[in-house]
Amino acid sequence: MAQVAIVWLRRNLRLQDNKPFAAALRHVDKVLPIFIFDTAILKQFPNPYDRRLSFLAHTLCLLHDALKKLQGELFVFHGTPLEIIPKLVNHLKVEAIYADEDYEPANIERDRTIQKVLMPHCKLHLYCDHLLIKPGIILTQCNQPYKLYTPYMKAFRTYIADQGALAQNRLLIEYNYALEGRLFTPSALDGQSIDLNVGVEEVLKQIGYIYIKDGLWDPKNGSNSLDGFLKNQIDHYKANRDLLDLNGSSRCGPYLRFGLISIRSCYRKAFALASNLGVTTWISELIWREFYANILYHFPNIIYESFQEKYRNTIPWNSKQEDYDRFVCGQTGYPIIDAAIQQLLCEGWMHNRARMIVASFFSKNLLLDWHKGESFFAQHLMDYELASNVGGWQWSSACGVDAPPYFRVFNPYLQGKKFDPDGQYVKKYLPGLQKVPRSIIHTMDFHTLHTNYPKPMVNYELSRIRAIETFKKIGA
Ligand SMILES: Cc1cc2nc3c(=O)[nH]c(=O)nc-3n(C[C@H](O)[C@H](O)[C@H](O)COP(=O)(O)OP(=O)(O)OC[C@H]3O[C@@H](n4cnc5c(N)ncnc54)[C@H](O)[C@@H]3O)c2cc1C
Repeated sequence: MAQVAIVWLRRNLRLQDNKPFAAALRHVDKVLPIFIFDTAILKQFPNPYDRRLSFLAHTLCLLHDALKKLQGELFVFHGTPLEIIPKLVNHLKVEAIYADEDYEPANIERDRTIQKVLMPHCKLHLYCDHLLIKPGIILTQCNQPYKLYTPYMKAFRTYIADQGALAQNRLLIEYNYALEGRLFTPSALDGQSIDLNVGVEEVLKQIGYIYIKDGLWDPKNGSNSLDGFLKNQIDHYKANRDLLDLNGSSRCGPYLRFGLISIRSCYRKAFALASNLGVTTWISELIWREFYANILYHFPNIIYESFQEKYRNTIPWNSKQEDYDRFVCGQTGYPIIDAAIQQLLCEGWMHNRARMIVASFFSKNLLLDWHKGESFFAQHLMDYELASNVGGWQWSSACGVDAPPYFRVFNPYLQGKKFDPDGQYVKKYLPGLQKVPRSIIHTMDFHTLHTNYPKPMVNYELSRIRAIETFKKIGA
């Protein structure tokens, strides 16, 4: 048995039910857990107050504390993996690195390059750990990727069922292992890594960010929020998930994104519940996540262009900067849109129904390029996932995979009446509208009666017709 292996944590920031840890411990005596603040990735997050960095640094400090209790440590580096990994491997003479497999195109390329540099002395072992099923496994009978969600979802469920009953199901198992006595703490690394004992604020300062104490997203709350949702809310998920003024969804996104919750535990715990519409719907939403990850894996070009070829370079997008600027500050004149933007800016999160209303308004009523909207969300969402965000934006703009037809344009007034009937959501995020009666808050009368609120930047009906005509010209 080789002596020591590196466990490189990336999107699976937890010590329990972690496949790379489990695999490494099967093959070596001791493991050295590391994390790299990748400067190439950090460049995409230029805001020094980015709350996701605070969340990430806090998570790393908690992992470090937990590892110390097991006589270990987390070693954190700042730089590019291509500089850091080979140096570490040479220094410590390790022959294996274990990590969760990443399926985003740039990260696939990064891992391939690292593997080439390390060969033949050291191997990078990759395990699918932030999705339930590795992309590329669920294919049509002709071995092609599914391009429609429903048949994919059915094939996905069949594939799980084929792995056996819940207790033995290979895909849903919980990986158990003991870390105590198995952690390597080399003195050779002294001074080379970021010292996590100095605390979150100091750690962030060293990589150029400022700590934001966030009362909403706490890395300690991941498992509790999942368990609380499964215990108290999932049965009503189907009915409540669309209501903007209710907390009807799990809010697990940020914890899943950073891997504080294991995706296997989400499926395992949900499948263990008595089946009902709420449970089935929630599992189907988890499968949307896998579907979009598969689409990105098979069609990496969708990062830059629409999935549907006919909408590539054919839509005469509105390039007015002032329209974009009014939208991103939540000054569109449509209370429901402006409230949703405030939710995103204040909480780093937006309700799913609001994401759909807002993205439809952006790409259809304002005729702004979905790609710009995607980038805006990417800068603010705590649960930002490239595949799901691109998928969601392209779906909402009719340009994506399995998207509704272009002529379906969400009506913000009707959406508001249906999903925020008392105006509570709007009033929560736009407290200046507290006194507006519920009867008019989602109507056109609102604009005539509330002259001190910004006028709607576009007329809903005219902009709807403009969008439909524009898409129609491109051809069905
Ligand atoms: C324009 C747009 C952009 C989006 N961007 C993202 C994004 O960057 N990251 C992201 O995780 N989701 C994104 N979504 C999907 C969805 O809005 C969020 O996953 C959901 O709101 C998160 O809330 P929750 O954690 O309470 O989810 P729940 O409703 O409790 O669902 C549980 C989990 O399932 C997954 N999920 C649920 N719905 C979807 C969906 N439609 N597509 C993919 N995964 C889903 C998420 O991981 C979610 O945390 C986007 C949707 C739209 C319309």
